[in-house]
Amino acid sequence: MKCPECNIQMDLTWRRYASAPFSRFRCPSCSTKFKFKRPLWYWLFPIIQCVVMLLGGAGILYYMVGHPSLGSYTKPAIVALSIAVIMASLVIDRNLEKSFETVKS
Ligand SMILES: [Zn+2]
Repeated sequence: MKCPECNIQMDLTWRRYASAPFSRFRCPSCSTKFKFKRPLWYWLFPIIQCVVMLLGGAGILYYMVGHPSLGSYTKPAIVALSIAVIMASLVIDRNLEKSFETVKS
């Protein structure tokens, strides 16, 4: 990503990514605050994520009330799938954001 003020190129490291949950960054060179210019379709990702998490939660509840059609493997499978989805969406999100233009905030 690039600073919109001084055009310095910096890497969106995991550390930087993790310390900016709302993707507000400060340029290490000129201290300008900036953010990503996100296209509208970007907001589909958190929506999909929410839906998957809700489905996963519903699956766990379903398991806990003891539905006979579910085997003992269901719960760990749902937990593993949820973790995999979170990890995958973090990786996708970081790579997407890297490619976005930045604007002053
Ligand atoms: Zn700068």
